[in-house]
Amino acid sequence: MTRGTPDFDIILAGGGLAGRSLAYYLSIHPGVGDVRILLIDDSSRYQHRSIVYWYDGALPLHLTPSASYTTLAVDSAAGLRRLSLDRHTLSLTSSQRIFDCLDQVIDSDPRITRLHAHAARVHVQRGRVVVTLADGRVVDGSHCCDSTAPPSGAAPPLLMTGEIRRVRTERESFDPSVATFMDFRSSDDGQPGRFHCLLPVSPREALVETTRITRGDAPLPRRPFDAVAAHYLRSTCGVTGFSTLAVELGAIPLGLHRQAPRGRHLYVGAASGIIKATTGYGFTRILHQSQLVASSFAATGSPRSPEPPRRFRFYDKPVLRMWLHDPEAAVRFMRAAFASLDADLILDFLDERTTPLQERELLGSMPVRMLLRPRLWL
Ligand SMILES: Cc1cc2nc3c(=O)[nH]c(=O)nc-3n(C[C@H](O)[C@H](O)[C@H](O)COP(=O)(O)OP(=O)(O)OC[C@H]3O[C@@H](n4cnc5c(N)ncnc54)[C@H](O)[C@@H]3O)c2cc1C
Repeated sequence: MTRGTPDFDIILAGGGLAGRSLAYYLSIHPGVGDVRILLIDDSSRYQHRSIVYWYDGALPLHLTPSASYTTLAVDSAAGLRRLSLDRHTLSLTSSQRIFDCLDQVIDSDPRITRLHAHAARVHVQRGRVVVTLADGRVVDGSHCCDSTAPPSGAAPPLLMTGEIRRVRTERESFDPSVATFMDFRSSDDGQPGRFHCLLPVSPREALVETTRITRGDAPLPRRPFDAVAAHYLRSTCGVTGFSTLAVELGAIPLGLHRQAPRGRHLYVGAASGIIKATTGYGFTRILHQSQLVASSFAATGSPRSPEPPRRFRFYDKPVLRMWLHDPEAAVRFMRAAFASLDADLILDFLDERTTPLQERELLGSMPVRMLLRPRLWL
């Protein structure tokens, strides 16, 4: 490192979905110009995963999904109901496919340097950001967008843990146009923190997600939920005769605080607290954040990520508290939330894209009083 010009204009620490998406949008933005971008990633242990996402209109990425759905089946207070998606496309892909798609652009851009390394420390010093690598090397940049670190070393308030099981059935058992989202029906057996999603990829193949919401310091499940998934398929979905092709295990921290930018050091992706607290999803929000950061960098020379309206945190917080203190009430609340007949509106709300007027319409169908219980605000 010299005292002259910084080594890079922008350092992207972490090259998962957020770091790569940002590199991608910086690369394709016509206003970014001739800049030096460093993408540091220590991804040797990256666990690839299935990714469910929805988008209103067209996804701003040429991604070919492995499945797309036109109907959402939701577990409402009135039982499982099918709602058609008019504006949104709900799709299934994998982090590997997304990486491949982003890497095509990133790897052909000479302005982007990739460095396989572990960033041990990121700090701001004399108007530049200094990244110390685990092997002792040091690089500096004018700005750093950091998706490496969890916001704090402490356990998150809640964990969404579970498995995604790819199954093949002996007979045609699934409707490939219908995705079942947050199905609590099998939680009626005394496991209120548990729900399933069913994502067909063909009439005989589907992903079955079994998810538990637990306290953030709860131990992670070490073994797949064979019996739980089998019970859901047999008893709730009426599917008999199936075999398991693959199982993914994972955990999503929920309710992490948003990280405020520290001058030239900006948190992005999950590290910025962008994962939606009520769903655990973040892919399309990460794409949107990356577009905004790239645009602000192109316009002002400084990467900035505008805060979403605070009222959405106001909605999420008591729901998280409910999962923590009274999971049965949380299930009742979620079922009531899905009583709305407008699936597109529900997805807009989960994406924090609704207007206050639309929220009034949606909240009208929810037992809002449940959210106002004082202990949910402790
Ligand atoms: C199991 C699981 C399933 C999920 N499923 C969905 C889903 O279906 N749909 C959805 O929308 N969202 C989903 N999410 C949420 C969200 O989309 C992902 O968490 C997403 O990967 C977050 O992107 P990120 O770049 O912030 O973090 P990551 O993708 O985890 O990337 C972080 C990167 O930084 C690297 N890194 C970490 N520390 C260092 C360091 N010190 N130095 C250098 N590199 C480092 C890591 O190797 C990694 O490559 C899921 C999350 C998890 C955990």
